[in-house]
Amino acid sequence: MGLLKITNGVLITPYRYIRGGTVVIEDGIIRGIHERDVEVPDAVEIDAGGQYVAPGFIDIHVHGGGGYDFMDGTEEAFLKIAELHARYGTTALVPTTLTAEKEDLLQTLDTYEAANRTNHRGAAFLGIHLEGPYFALSQRGAQDPRYIRNPAPQEYEEILAYSSSIVRWSAAPELKGAIPFGRRLREKGILAAVAHTDAIYEDVLEAYENGYSLATHLYSAMSGVTRRNAFRYAGVIESAYLLDMDVEIITDGVHLPPPLLKLVYKIKGPDRTALITDAMRAAGMPEGESTLGSLKNGLKVIVEDGVAKLPDRSSFAGSVATTNQLVRNMVQLADVPLLDAVRMASTTPARIMGVESRKGSLTPGKDADLVIFNENVDISATLVNGNLVYSNQLLINA
Ligand SMILES: [Zn+2]
Repeated sequence: MGLLKITNGVLITPYRYIRGGTVVIEDGIIRGIHERDVEVPDAVEIDAGGQYVAPGFIDIHVHGGGGYDFMDGTEEAFLKIAELHARYGTTALVPTTLTAEKEDLLQTLDTYEAANRTNHRGAAFLGIHLEGPYFALSQRGAQDPRYIRNPAPQEYEEILAYSSSIVRWSAAPELKGAIPFGRRLREKGILAAVAHTDAIYEDVLEAYENGYSLATHLYSAMSGVTRRNAFRYAGVIESAYLLDMDVEIITDGVHLPPPLLKLVYKIKGPDRTALITDAMRAAGMPEGESTLGSLKNGLKVIVEDGVAKLPDRSSFAGSVATTNQLVRNMVQLADVPLLDAVRMASTTPARIMGVESRKGSLTPGKDADLVIFNENVDISATLVNGNLVYSNQLLINA
């Protein structure tokens, strides 16, 4: 691997721009960030051609892409999804499951561990996110109702004991057993997130005090203000704003319209907001029929208007976004400065997942996970741990 130098870029640290800056990489680690070109004998050189050079995008909620889903149960699916998203700027991701029978979840954990050892050509894996199955039926969205249930210690303890690869678990905090479940996750160092939930503020506050620190795809599959008889109750959305919770938003430009993107940015800001794709298998594929979840047990969906929908079009069924689109949408649809959009796609998700000492900014000592892109956030090159896993038309001078 050796020495690598990226010259002639507009570096996004992402706290400032360094125009004409140089990044020096040695053995997969960033060794230097310089304000001009520097002599590095024997380095392989990449000329960024005046384009942006930013920390790689970190997608903490993604189900698939390139025709594959993490629930397919094959190593190939994991590797192909990692490669597909790397083409669009993702350098690290958190493979995410759907509600399923326990056996399918355990199998996905096995497959993850096998794939993680051979994943060298795509985005790196940060561990598994179990999305469900402990959800409110009324907010299931595209999650299969057959598998939705309450958290029971005999089940989740078995899953937790089975694998050390679980880094995040999304659940509805108002369910019976959800509070001790959150405490247990916190004890294990696993990120607990509120999701697919009809909770009111009082439930979310208790959940927050007991370990839940992130709102999963804010606005999607969760309660807002409700009225019971004459009285109003704050829902999960208002609670996420009021409490110091992190939020993630599907920034495909379809799930949330521009005013809501602006509202989240205004209230939560770039340090509390992570951009996610929540992409299903059709990301990076032509529109038409597809399957949400595993090929065996999945739901038929249609992809049209840049989003997956249930066949009756009553609900979205996941996005088909890629991370470069998330950044582009925050800039072009929500008028957010590019520096902040990059922070929400790299620095903030790295901090939420607890990997900020290794990832999420252009800083000496961190992993050389970088993306090079133009004004429109079209990706020219992606490096993961200093390896060029994707490049478009860049000049590489040995
Ligand atoms: Zn999801």
